[in-house]
This record gives sequence, C-alpha cells and structure tokens, in this order.
Amino acid sequence: MHSFHYQNNSLHCENVDLQDLIQEHGTPLYVYSQATIVDHFTRLDAALDGVDHLVCYATKANSNLAVLNLLAQRGAGFDIVSGGELYRIIKAGGDPAKCTFAGVGKTRSEIEYALEQGVGCFNAESEAEVQRLNDIAGEMGKKAPIALRVNPNVDAKTHKYISTGKSDNKFGINFESIPDAYARAAKLPNVTLRGVQMHIGSQLTSVDPFIEAVKKVTPLVEDLKAQYGIEFFSIGGGIGIVYEDTLASHDAAWWSRDDSDETAAVPITIEAYAQALLPLLKPLGLTIFLEPGRLIAGNAGVLLSEVLYEKKGGSKIFEIVDAGMNDLIRPALYQGHHDIVPVKQPASEDTVAVDIVGPVCESGDFFAQDRELPKLEQGDCIAVLSAGAYGFVMASNYNSRPFPAEILVDGSQSHVIRKRQTFDDLIAGEVIPK
Ligand SMILES: *Cc1c(COP(=O)(O)O)cnc(C)c1O
Repeated sequence: MHSFHYQNNSLHCENVDLQDLIQEHGTPLYVYSQATIVDHFTRLDAALDGVDHLVCYATKANSNLAVLNLLAQRGAGFDIVSGGELYRIIKAGGDPAKCTFAGVGKTRSEIEYALEQGVGCFNAESEAEVQRLNDIAGEMGKKAPIALRVNPNVDAKTHKYISTGKSDNKFGINFESIPDAYARAAKLPNVTLRGVQMHIGSQLTSVDPFIEAVKKVTPLVEDLKAQYGIEFFSIGGGIGIVYEDTLASHDAAWWSRDDSDETAAVPITIEAYAQALLPLLKPLGLTIFLEPGRLIAGNAGVLLSEVLYEKKGGSKIFEIVDAGMNDLIRPALYQGHHDIVPVKQPASEDTVAVDIVGPVCESGDFFAQDRELPKLEQGDCIAVLSAGAYGFVMASNYNSRPFPAEILVDGSQSHVIRKRQTFDDLIAGEVIPK
C-alpha cells in the first residue's frame, strides 16, 4: 500500500498536503503514513493465518517510538539488535517477551539488560556467544532462552552489503556445524533451546531464495524439534519492496500485482510469499517467526527537501537540495534507488536529466544521478520516496547537520513524532577540558 498521491496538484500523504507540512515544519523532513505501516503489518499477519506465527518487526528499519507503538498496539513482536532497541521497545509499550535479540556482537551489559527485562529469545550467532549467554545467565541465577542462527549458505541475489545468508558473511553459524552446536548448547545448564533462526538478506525481490533456504533447513529444523523440543522457527525478514515507479503503480496495489507481468519491477507480493512458504512451514508444527522491516516501513515514508540552488557543471545539471547523505544514506551506502518527485505537480510534462545532490562535503552525497525529472526551480520541494525504512535510523550529524524532524500522518492529522534537532542538541554531552 502506498499512501502518497497528488491531490489538487500537490503531493499528499493520506489527506495531508505535504507542502503545508513543509510550511509548518521546514525541510529536510521525514513524513510517514500511519495507514501504510498498519496495513502492511496487518496484511502480512493475516496472510500467515494458516500457521501459528508471530510477526516480529525488525526495529532497526525505523525505530521511532511512535512507529513502534503502532505495531506494539497491534500485537507485533520485535526483532532487536541492541540494548538500545530493547529500551525503545519498552518505552513504546512493546513486550520484551515478544522480542528476539539478534546480532553478532551482543555485549555483556546488553545481555544482562535483556535477561533482566525478560527478552523472549536470544538469537545467538556464534558458539562463543552461546557460552557467554550461559555464563551470564548463570551469574544472574537465570536461564537464557536461545535459538541459534543458521547460515544456510544460499544466495539471496541482493546487494552484497545486504546479503547475509552466504557462508562468507559474518552472520549465523555454518549450516554444517549447527547439529554439533546444538548438541553442545544442550549440555549447558543455563540456556534453554527455544528455536532456530535464519535471515538470508534484505530487499529480496524473488521468493525463490526463501524457498531454497526453507527447503534446505527444514530437515535440520525437524531434527532439532525431535531432539530438543524447540518451539519456533524464525525465517527472518528480507521481503523486498518496490523502489521504482511507486507513485505510478500505487493504485494497482502492489502486493497483489500479477507476478507474471515481467515488465513490472515486481517485488515479492505478500500473497506470493505466504502461498509459497506456508505449505513448507505448516507441517513443521512450530511457531513461525517473521522479521520484516523494510516491508512494513519502507514505502510508508518520504524525505522532503527544498531545492537550494541549481548549478550547471561541465556536463551535468546539479540540483542542490537541503537534505544530504547524513539524512538518508542508502544511495551512498548501497546504491539504493529512490524515486524522486516534485511536491507541487509540474504544469509541463517536460523533463531534464539532473543530479540531485546534497550539501555534504562528499562526492557520494547524491540522491539521484542523470535522473529525468520535471524542471525544478529554486525553492521547489521534492519528495524522496520509499524512505521510511533505513532512512532516519541511519541519519548522522556529519557536517554538524541537525537531525531532521519526523512527522506521522494519520488521515487528516499530523503529529511531530520527533522534533528537529537544534544546534544545542548537536553539542549536548561535549566537554572542553579545563
Ligand atoms: C535487518 C534484519 C531483518 C530485517 O530485514 P528487512 O530486509 O528490513 O526485512 C530481519 N532479521 C534480522 C536478523 C536482521 O538483521
């Protein structure tokens, strides 16, 4: 679902005119649609009705308290990767018992905090970590609920920076080593074997790698259930979204778009994903955990920015905007594509090839290169689409640029869910020695 559309020649999020939000809150500005976030969660949840399951939203995709609260209210679990994320879940009204704690480098203090708060499960990524979980739980007189993350060694066919399920990635435990790793873990007094987990990568645009991974891991899962009575199998996140032509196609709800149309940049539809995987998962008789992040939040958000200057280079036209790679790093970090549209619908359909660049002192600071866009004028505003996931969460203060504000739109209402940072915020905590 996509809640961004033109109305009276102005781009709206649900019923709110984005130009009005810009007038009130300035730019750069992140805007999220509540309806989209909720819709994506409930649709995925419903598509899995045939099997006992828990959708654990991957907090790292967009961890604003208001976003987490929307999902917590609707019964979501959460996949977390740090103590800070667990703190956010608790502050947002989420249930620690419905949290799975992933990540290759959990620290002692993070493990202690998670045990104190009663985290649902630690998804351990190495045997050294299992040992440490056992030791710390023992010191605290507790038992650590754990699952091991299996690296199934399948190719997710996604960008190498977001591929996680090959044997040369740092994630998980080798497929071949898993049986022995469980056997050793089962002997430890202070851990409980609760499940098994995998996550092969992000922004997958085909169900095939998921099917391949589930099929490959299934015999192992059956074995672990028989031997250790594990209760859940987490198949991770990674469902890709459409980044291209999202406005044009939003009426034809993308999640139910015809997969046979090979000309469309068809992502995995929720239905296709569920239909392909449910028959494989149901017979296991386990609770299935999913950890979607991008799917829930990606197309629910935009980054709004104003054109500051136009500059004609030797061979290029640069539109210099007031948002930069510090606000949204996906293009610079993994060549992420974002559609860009003007907030005010242009009168003419003519386009020009331009580079949309930010003010940051890095050549990697661009949102688009050689992109055909309607003619932009100084003061015009643009919307960088599909910026709801891995957007604000990766923002930095590089170049001492304050974080942008975040707005949540609900129908005709809008709420500031994070204030724009001030210069004082920038230096908070810094000290000049006497
Ligand atoms: C990042 C991550 C996810 C979410 O990935 P998406 O592509 O956003 O769905 C899920 N599980 C784990 C372990 C992750 O690291």
